[in-house]
Amino acid sequence: MNTTHTILTGDRPTGQLHLGHYVGSLRQRVQLQHEHQQFILIADLQGLTDNGSNPQKISHNILEVMADYLAVGIDPSRTTLCLQSALPALAELTALYMNIVTVARVERNPTVKNEIAQKGFSRSLPVGFMAYPISQAADITAFHADLVPVGDDQLPMIEQTNEIVHKMNSLTTEPVLRHCKALLSDVSRLPGIDGGAKMSKSLGNTLTLSASETEIHQAVSAMYTDPNHLRVADPGQVDGNVVFTYLDAFHPDKALVAEMKAHYQQGGLGDRQCKNVLEACLQELLAPIRERRATVIQDKGMLLELLRQGSERAHEVTQKTLHAVKRGLGLPVL
Ligand code: ATP
Ligand code: MG
Repeated sequence: MNTTHTILTGDRPTGQLHLGHYVGSLRQRVQLQHEHQQFILIADLQGLTDNGSNPQKISHNILEVMADYLAVGIDPSRTTLCLQSALPALAELTALYMNIVTVARVERNPTVKNEIAQKGFSRSLPVGFMAYPISQAADITAFHADLVPVGDDQLPMIEQTNEIVHKMNSLTTEPVLRHCKALLSDVSRLPGIDGGAKMSKSLGNTLTLSASETEIHQAVSAMYTDPNHLRVADPGQVDGNVVFTYLDAFHPDKALVAEMKAHYQQGGLGDRQCKNVLEACLQELLAPIRERRATVIQDKGMLLELLRQGSERAHEVTQKTLHAVKRGLGLPVL
């Protein structure tokens, strides 16, 4: 990538960020902010779509997520950090886009389908939740983002966004909206510490960025390996072995991991030894993040002010897009 892109990513403030966010998206964002124009949106309205009766959970976690960003090295002078509910243009664009998306199309979105089943919504499904891919399309297009760093659960959202762009551009007098592309990391879906398909706040199988030394130790100790690897001398499986999945995702020395895999498959390398290597690497990764986080979370006033400043910049950009869309549709901008 040598041209400058406009990037929009974000997270729902439904809890502290975790290792899945780190490898799926945060790590990349820290790199990207040096080369591109980057906006990061704390998606509180989207967080409310499945927490409507528990708004405190969302409001409380806004600054927790801000602290996570600063702790991993997101620099507010390079990245615009902003809050979804402070940007009315996003809600207005959502309202406009809702009219060009069919119920059948949102029902077909595989991630939404999966989440509805997981959350056991059935007939109590909130309308807002069903419509969140549309609001996500509003978020992306409002910033004219062409690149969206996400985990692979978000690919259907990008596809749906581009459909909305296509349709909207055919309705406006001239094309207003920009198509976008997902940017996947090498680890686009980190499994949970329980071995579940995806580490996720909702599933309670996370290791947060503020995890203590003891929590890290306990999580690694409890991790699944190969259930048939009973004696150290036995050959073991690395596929589906969570310890090796995490070593691949986090260990900086790829050659060492390759050597360990070969040794494990051949027999003679114990689970305990593998876990020790993994634990050391996670402790080393998380110690400075935990420390920085503990400092910045003390100063809530500073975190809020950074979010206010970023939201002010984002407000200008998103209002411009909204006005262009309205004009394109022939609606008066009063
Ligand atoms: P929730 O359970 O509340 O939906 P979440 O853990 O899925 O929370 P989100 O805020 O929905 O987190 O996701 C923010 C971003 O992080 C998205 O781009 C998502 O794809 C990415 N992400 C989340 N979990 C993982 C994971 N386990 N591996 C890789 N990327 C992830
Ligand atoms: Mg999610």
